[in-house]
Amino acid sequence: MAQKTVPVLIVGGGIGGLGAALALALQGIPSRVLEQASGFGEIGAGIQLGPNVFRMFHRLGISDAIEKRAVFVDKIIMMDAVAGTPITEVPLGKPFRERFGQPYAVIHRADLHRALLDACEARGELISLETKTSVTSVRDTDDGVVAVTGDGSEISGAALIGADGLWSSVRAYVADDGPPRVSGHVAYRAVLPMEQVPKEMRWNAATLWAGPRIHLVHYPLRNGELMNLVAVFHSDRYVEGWNAPGEVDELLRWFKDIDPRPLSLIDLVSEWRMWVLCDRDPISKWSRGRTTLLGDAAHPMLQYFAQGACMALEDAVCLADKVTAADGDYGEAFKAYQAERYLRTGRVQLMARFLGDIYHAKDVERELRNQMLAGRTPETSYQGLAWLYDGP
Ligand SMILES: Cc1cc2nc3c(=O)[nH]c(=O)nc-3n(C[C@H](O)[C@H](O)[C@H](O)COP(=O)(O)OP(=O)(O)OC[C@H]3O[C@@H](n4cnc5c(N)ncnc54)[C@H](O)[C@@H]3O)c2cc1C
Repeated sequence: MAQKTVPVLIVGGGIGGLGAALALALQGIPSRVLEQASGFGEIGAGIQLGPNVFRMFHRLGISDAIEKRAVFVDKIIMMDAVAGTPITEVPLGKPFRERFGQPYAVIHRADLHRALLDACEARGELISLETKTSVTSVRDTDDGVVAVTGDGSEISGAALIGADGLWSSVRAYVADDGPPRVSGHVAYRAVLPMEQVPKEMRWNAATLWAGPRIHLVHYPLRNGELMNLVAVFHSDRYVEGWNAPGEVDELLRWFKDIDPRPLSLIDLVSEWRMWVLCDRDPISKWSRGRTTLLGDAAHPMLQYFAQGACMALEDAVCLADKVTAADGDYGEAFKAYQAERYLRTGRVQLMARFLGDIYHAKDVERELRNQMLAGRTPETSYQGLAWLYDGP
């Protein structure tokens, strides 16, 4: 049986790290979540939730908290940003829910993170949440692992999960494959009060305006009181982190020729925050001894499938199941976990790059995209998404 006294160390208290702590606690396994920041929290932006992650919410016991805070959008729409015409849409109503057994929704990142944090805090006897703890290296011992922190202190645990995101330091110990790949795409994000948004743009959908080398995504948040905006364009800029200020002039140079409706949304924002989008090629080795990786640390992906956080929570549930099944043998559990997860997450990583090319098509590619997608029915869309939305 799983060692129930020595905690597992989880590096990173983002969506993946908290999900892992909660999934382990639900199976009676204690953990210490080591977060480098001075508090647990998430940035101000939205996140889309596929039906596959709703199954994880059930397993984690947080479905009610999520359903209270999520917005259940009616459809996903793809528009041609230049012509201003619809390309295709995926209806998310009753037929979608019947097909996948779960809904599709959007949520504020802080609300998803809060739901996980509340559930972790409610299990304080099994989960220790520790801030201002930056893990710089990891060492194996005879019967566990040691995490070394920025101030030189050493923390022992039964095993270690690196849920420390795109620039993971635990990954350097496990895979040693250098820095992430800079995609050449940059995302600017902003959240607007809905009352500022023109009435004709306040539709209840996740909308993507696809243009040459650019796209814009928007959807409502928090009961329709906010609108989440993400504008993506090609750029060689590179800044680490998720909170650098964006340059409005640069953004407008890319988007100035699009349809006036999406352009009117961009014009409303005075302050953008920037993400330089990075990913990695899929790998199958996520574990080294009693240390493994989870979420973006294991399989960073471009966000074009809107699945990075969903995959992190699938990882968390799978990992806890494998730890219980391996009866406390963390090395075996982590091998079984990576074997079950790497092809599914690798497929999302690679398909997300491909989707980026489709969104950003220009000239003949753009015409072909519009022609090919125009013929899709809801059923063909559902069939195409089944490998992902039906779950692992
Ligand atoms: C523009 C954009 C849109 C997206 N949209 C969606 C979407 O719609 N749906 C979806 O499912 N996903 C989406 N994603 C992906 C999603 O945001 C990520 O996949 C998800 O946040 C990964 O969670 P994580 O916990 O693995 O990593 P992170 O969220 O990066 O968390 C890592 C945590 O580890 C901490 N940390 C880092 N290093 C250390 C250290 N050395 N020691 C201690 N702590 C450390 C960090 O402070 C942080 O709290 C999007 C991403 C982007 C960029």
